[in-house]
Amino acid sequence: MFTDTAEELALKIKNKEYKNAFITTHHKPDGDAMGSTLALKRFLEQHIPSVTLVTPTDYAHFLHWLPGNDEVVIYEKDKDKSKQLLEAADVVFCLDFNRLHRINELGELIGKCSADVVMIDHHLDPEDFAKYTFANSDIGSTCELVYLFIQKYFNTDVIDADMATCIYTGTVTDTGHFAHGNTTSSTHRIAADLMDKGANNVQIYERIFNTFSHSRSKLFGYCLYKKLEVIPELKTALLYLDADELEEFNVITGDTEGLVNFGLGLEGIVFSVLIIDRTERVKMSFRSKGSFAANAFAAKHFNGGGHFNAAGGASDDSLEDTIFKFKNALKDHKEELLGV
Ligand code: 5GP
Ligand code: MN
Repeated sequence: MFTDTAEELALKIKNKEYKNAFITTHHKPDGDAMGSTLALKRFLEQHIPSVTLVTPTDYAHFLHWLPGNDEVVIYEKDKDKSKQLLEAADVVFCLDFNRLHRINELGELIGKCSADVVMIDHHLDPEDFAKYTFANSDIGSTCELVYLFIQKYFNTDVIDADMATCIYTGTVTDTGHFAHGNTTSSTHRIAADLMDKGANNVQIYERIFNTFSHSRSKLFGYCLYKKLEVIPELKTALLYLDADELEEFNVITGDTEGLVNFGLGLEGIVFSVLIIDRTERVKMSFRSKGSFAANAFAAKHFNGGGHFNAAGGASDDSLEDTIFKFKNALKDHKEELLGV
């Protein structure tokens, strides 16, 4: 569903009514989160004197090459500065998430702030926290929405090579290189235009996907060789990592990105989960194929959500109990799983 209440916002931007913009995105931002916020920052700088980008947490090093990365403030590392920036803002942009609790403390502060709050997002079931919304859950990435926002209310001629690079990055990462069901002909048209504007698809691919550390390669090998568990009668694959394994492979932010997809690569598998013991919580990533709703499964059993075929959740139980609970929950979905 497309929700666009941003016409007045666009006018205020054009009329230079805002002086201080604050942009943020979700916890552990991915390629879409960083690409969309960095592109929007660069765009808004054409109209607003001060534009800052604050992420709730750090993010994968394979995103640090993105143009504008040096100007990003990380809330958990610099809370005082982040709070000052938020207090000074007259407009706050929330990108690639639609529920304030997903950004923890920073979400509470945004919930209380007096600035105009804007949501640009492509997840389902948005919370009603924004004054202006530009959201569509049928669009593959928030990056595409940033492009569409500029196209609708401004002009895509203002997209320079750096902005094109950022937008292209999120388009590629959130659609699995244009392979997932969220890829449309419009996605390809946008990507083509971004290439014309200077996005280098080969370089972007290299920097995001071909920059494994040796320890990350070993982690992937170890997971495939030793850890991938298959439940063929439920068309499901399962992979989990405990705290010792995370330490053994020096796992840092971003290292486990993509692991959950290996399960779905197996013939006959339609549902894959990655369960990671992050000490404070057990974090889960779900991916599915076709008609099996990963987001509904995540919401029903693990207090999570996300997209139809790509979702996440968390558990406060131990890793062992979470795995047990997951396997039990699967049994309730046997018919749906076998029906894919
Ligand atoms: P990932 O598995 O890559 O962390 O997340 C996949 C998708 O699920 C993303 O779109 C993300 O926003 C969503 N997601 C991940 N974890 C959670 C969660 O705990 N709650 C909700 N509502 N969505 C999540
Ligand atoms: Mn996204």
